[in-house]
Amino acid sequence: MSGLLRIGNATVARVVETRVAYEPKYLFKQLPDQHIEQVREALPSWSIEAGSQRIYLTFQSFVIRHGGRTILVDTCNGNHKNRPDMPRWHQTDFPYLERLKSAGVHPDEVDVVLCSHLHADHVGWNTRLDNGRWVPTFRNARYLVSDVEMGHWRERHAIDPAASVNHGSWQDSVLPVEEAGLLDEVSVDHVLGSCIDTEIRLEHAPGHTPGQVHLVLSSSSGELIYCADTIHHPLQIADPQYALTDDDPGAALASRQRLINRCMHSGATLLPAHFDEAGTIERHLGSARFRSF
Ligand SMILES: [Zn+2]
Repeated sequence: MSGLLRIGNATVARVVETRVAYEPKYLFKQLPDQHIEQVREALPSWSIEAGSQRIYLTFQSFVIRHGGRTILVDTCNGNHKNRPDMPRWHQTDFPYLERLKSAGVHPDEVDVVLCSHLHADHVGWNTRLDNGRWVPTFRNARYLVSDVEMGHWRERHAIDPAASVNHGSWQDSVLPVEEAGLLDEVSVDHVLGSCIDTEIRLEHAPGHTPGQVHLVLSSSSGELIYCADTIHHPLQIADPQYALTDDDPGAALASRQRLINRCMHSGATLLPAHFDEAGTIERHLGSARFRSF
């Protein structure tokens, strides 16, 4: 996804926080040895490291412009967060806000921040450190989270209020936004807006987390589905049984299979949270395959 995607009268751009190459079995515990070598030909080149079997995940936000509004989708890991149990994300210093500004977006101009779900790598830039306090980064925005997702993690927090929830991101990246009065709990099928022939709405995709939502942009010219973490890596499109940590593995697999079939039949553009490029799903030699734009 080198440039802008366009669906009807909406545009989608991305702002990258970082890109990480992982040993495949670190992410997908059930993967057979040599699996990557066997499927390498069918996978986009950006998804595997050249000369090794390591596979890439990209951590990024998407910026949607639609009907005069700026919508920021998912906010990566953030800076200066205490993540002692995740050294890669502990006390980071990414030039994310500079990149956001280079993409033409000043934080004060963001109208809506959509959190597809509340894992730590999707809410980090919700807040920034200001004189030792976590304050909302996007002070003029409404932050949208599904009511199912908020309810799930609120319940988890209530069981043991002293314990870190989602590696501490509930405490440093979600609660300060709620306390500032900027957080809206919305239904899992909430419509964000409609302008001319283009509509943006949420769709429930449970399994990875109970309240995860996809963002669907639809117009007379086609459909784009931002599918968050229902799919993490292109290898799951041919083999959806391989999964990262899902809250409910059975429900996550069902959501993944439903999404793959839908895209294969409708030709919708698929945009997963951690992919470098959007694309479509096609049938190739009897199995599903991701085709990058
Ligand atoms: Zn996640």
